[in-house]
Amino acid sequence: MSTALYSHPVCVEHDPGTHHPERPDRLRAVLKALEAEAFDDLVRIPAPKASLAQIERVHAPYYVEKVFENIPESGLFHLDPDTAMSPKSGEAALRAAGGVCAAVDAVIGGQTTNAFCALRPPGHHAEPSQAMGFCLFNNIAIGALQARDAHGIERVAVVDFDVHHGNGTQASFERYRDFLYVSSHQSPAYPGTGAEMERGLNNNIINVELDPGSGSDIFRKAYTDRILPALRDWKPQLLMISAGFDAHLRDPLAQLLLHDDDFAWVSRQLLEVAAEVCENRVVSVLEGGYDLDALAACVALHVGELMAVDIR
Ligand SMILES: [Zn+2]
Repeated sequence: MSTALYSHPVCVEHDPGTHHPERPDRLRAVLKALEAEAFDDLVRIPAPKASLAQIERVHAPYYVEKVFENIPESGLFHLDPDTAMSPKSGEAALRAAGGVCAAVDAVIGGQTTNAFCALRPPGHHAEPSQAMGFCLFNNIAIGALQARDAHGIERVAVVDFDVHHGNGTQASFERYRDFLYVSSHQSPAYPGTGAEMERGLNNNIINVELDPGSGSDIFRKAYTDRILPALRDWKPQLLMISAGFDAHLRDPLAQLLLHDDDFAWVSRQLLEVAAEVCENRVVSVLEGGYDLDALAACVALHVGELMAVDIR
């Protein structure tokens, strides 16, 4: 058993434009960090394309059609002011969603202990019928539906430690009794959702708001006191992680003050819960993180923790 790494070269070719923070160099930096000798045992798997049926478990068919009809032959097409597509964005988006589905298949099928999906465009802001915040399709929500519809997994939890609230994942999950969405995020910040009073139709949404300027102590206390106990109580059969690294103190898009070792710490805590409640079944999916050095260092620590599960 092992840790699988899902990625694809075309995910580097999705290019939302010069000076866009969600740039191809992000994934280049992540993949370069994972080429170090410490990661030799990763099982590297090219992300397959998702089927339309997989994507349409989350997204409205008219929205999916709008994305593919507007892929430009050259230049950019803007789906919203922040979210642009280049000629390779359609294939990249299919492989980002498809990689997460394949990771879910492999983890539930027992071919790998856990998986990290180094894919872009990211997904957690994508709503069922709207692109938002650099995201085209909600990769992690599509993966959760894959677990349910293809494998009969009833209880899936997504923990999202990206500094931004995953409005799209919340919108995808709030009507499902058996999907839990837990987010820690800066507030106020983009996209403006994620108030603690937003609890979902079945109390299956947990939002933890962190003031700008919050650092390690407040972040760790939020997980220790609220998020980890809620996860243990809820007992998911599969734990998915929206792994964004933009709560780092060096990140230019937000004002939380986490250090590298906070990301190792939170990864380890989540993996311990997964060991207790769901036989270590974890699929982690890259979301944000816009300082290239901090992103590369924190992804390396996160993936190191995923790989350490087999050694423990
Ligand atoms: Zn973010």
